[in-house]
Amino acid sequence: MRQRTIAEKISCTGIGLHTGKPVQLTLQPARAESGIVFVRTDLTHPVEIPATPATLSRTHLATAIGCGDVTVDTVEHLLAALYGLGIDNARIEVDGPEIPGMDGSAAPFVFLLRAAGVFVQGTPRRTLAVRRPIEIRDGDRSIRIDPARELRVSYAIDFETPLIGRQKLCDLVIDEACFEREFARARTFGFADQVGALWQAGRARGASLDNTVVLGDDRVLNRGGLRFPDEFVRHKVLDLLGDLALLGSRVRGHIRVERGGHSLHQKLVAALARVSIAERSGSEVRALRPQSIRLQAMGRL
Ligand SMILES: [Zn+2]
Repeated sequence: MRQRTIAEKISCTGIGLHTGKPVQLTLQPARAESGIVFVRTDLTHPVEIPATPATLSRTHLATAIGCGDVTVDTVEHLLAALYGLGIDNARIEVDGPEIPGMDGSAAPFVFLLRAAGVFVQGTPRRTLAVRRPIEIRDGDRSIRIDPARELRVSYAIDFETPLIGRQKLCDLVIDEACFEREFARARTFGFADQVGALWQAGRARGASLDNTVVLGDDRVLNRGGLRFPDEFVRHKVLDLLGDLALLGSRVRGHIRVERGGHSLHQKLVAALARVSIAERSGSEVRALRPQSIRLQAMGRL
């Protein structure tokens, strides 16, 4: 259980899902304890943005992190690949405001990381083992973590459209092999009738059938269909792992999500970050009450 980085520098280019602009991405090895750090190299003075709960800047549609007004958008699929393969430290250079969307999944990033190779470092890994359950509810949506010896995930989504409907995955132990086999290839998805509104809002400019599962009125519009019958809920788990990566620790606990998304995931991440800080400082955590969210902290966190 020692920290890991990549063995060699590796690059790729692609199109930003939201900006529609080409970007170059370079992954570099990084020293132990440095974590995952994004670097905007297109600016006169490159800006470093550590991937932490404190730099989270937006969760609508995708996860963005930032320092001041400098942001990097759509970080979650790359972060999911890093978390899934157990890479603790890396320097991620990007010459634009968004990580390339690639095929809409984490599989191309897994391919890149595998090609770069893994380097095991001398420092022990940070782990965050929850000792008491945490639950966050927001109407009919909820996220909860209970103590467990390893990271386990149960996830359910429920969409009105019968093309998705209710999809549920129960109590999966998330290790490297499971991540690569079950989740890395699951693509992001969107609805054809919402594209116009997204474009008007300046979003999804780079979205296409090459990088998004697009749902029409009565069918999936992508020629090859789905990669898994329940690709949608699998992608939600992928997003969850990318959001958890902001913690900079290996999480031990059973996470159960009902109708989740980035915003709900990040509320759990914020609560876990409080636990992590408290554990390091040895102090007690006070009850957390984010606005408009009923948070039940059962016993001491
Ligand atoms: Zn996603």
